[in-house]
Amino acid sequence: MTKALPFTQKLLFWYRRNARDLPWRRTKDPYKIWISEIMLQQTTVNAVIPYYKRWVKEFPSIQSVADAPLQKILRFWQGLGYYQRARNIHKSAKTISKNYFRRIPRDLNILKKLPGFGAYTVGAVLSIAFDYPMTIIDANIRRVVMRQLAIKGRADNSHDGKISLFLKGVLPGEHCGDFNQALMELGALVCRNKEPLCSVCPVKGGCAAYKKGIQEIIPQPKNRRIKEIDVSVAVIKRNNRYFIQKRPSRGLLADLWEFPGGKIIPGETQKQALERELLEELGIRVYGLRHFADVQHFYTQFRVKLHVWICGVASGIPSDKTHRWVRPDDFSKYPMPSGSAKIVDLISSGKVR
Ligand code: SF4
Repeated sequence: MTKALPFTQKLLFWYRRNARDLPWRRTKDPYKIWISEIMLQQTTVNAVIPYYKRWVKEFPSIQSVADAPLQKILRFWQGLGYYQRARNIHKSAKTISKNYFRRIPRDLNILKKLPGFGAYTVGAVLSIAFDYPMTIIDANIRRVVMRQLAIKGRADNSHDGKISLFLKGVLPGEHCGDFNQALMELGALVCRNKEPLCSVCPVKGGCAAYKKGIQEIIPQPKNRRIKEIDVSVAVIKRNNRYFIQKRPSRGLLADLWEFPGGKIIPGETQKQALERELLEELGIRVYGLRHFADVQHFYTQFRVKLHVWICGVASGIPSDKTHRWVRPDDFSKYPMPSGSAKIVDLISSGKVR
């Protein structure tokens, strides 16, 4: 009788036949692996692919990132969200360029001190680029192992001790990068959050949740309440230019450009809120206010509905470092949050007149 292949071999065997052909899997360049790993945090593979391709074309090396101004970095990140990731890439690239010969250091202790290099990123870069024997835990891996071990509860890091112990026990002596990617790939394609495909799973033989028939309730679903925010936004137009302003350098969506406006206070109409905000923020009165679109965007903790109004202004807003009048062709020079970017799409498509 053939001896059953252990977990690791089955997983690697499956991965070599089923792994998706993704652009960052065609390289061993630690810089590009680092960029892909940061982009993939909080963002889906399909959303990341075009960003990754654009990024490595524009910034082919760590030095090119270090040399670029932050505004350009943010522009190439625009739409991916969680902009702190882009700022950290920029900061780390500068440090690596200055102190480590423009190459990602192979040293765990140096890497973990760089901005944005948490335990996951350090492990992913070292194992995938250099085949370091390190385990990593991301949402996919956590889910796979929780099911393998039938660990009940939420998918938070309270189970990471047990998960880590399991992973260390099955980590191979070589091909550790493939092993880590195989676990993530299994979580993405087979051991999916909803409706896991256990029938085609290469490691179902040792899966405790599968045996007990409880895989669908592991991990326990979150009952997250999404906050809803309604905002009135002004698209102020003058001589085929549109007014945008820069957000403060600290806090949510820092340093990004947006159309002016603000939250609607209970009891206010959209129009009243807008007139109040424009007077408070910019000291201006606008004319011809006309509602033309509602734009919705989801963030992790809240949903924003932007009620967009177009209007004109006689005078009063100067162009300076944080206030600009922009031609439609020049919007691409200004990094923006996704809600404002959607408004730009409407303007570019000719729907705003
Ligand atoms: S058998 Fe099912 S639940 Fe278990 S690891 Fe495979 S896909 Fe996930």
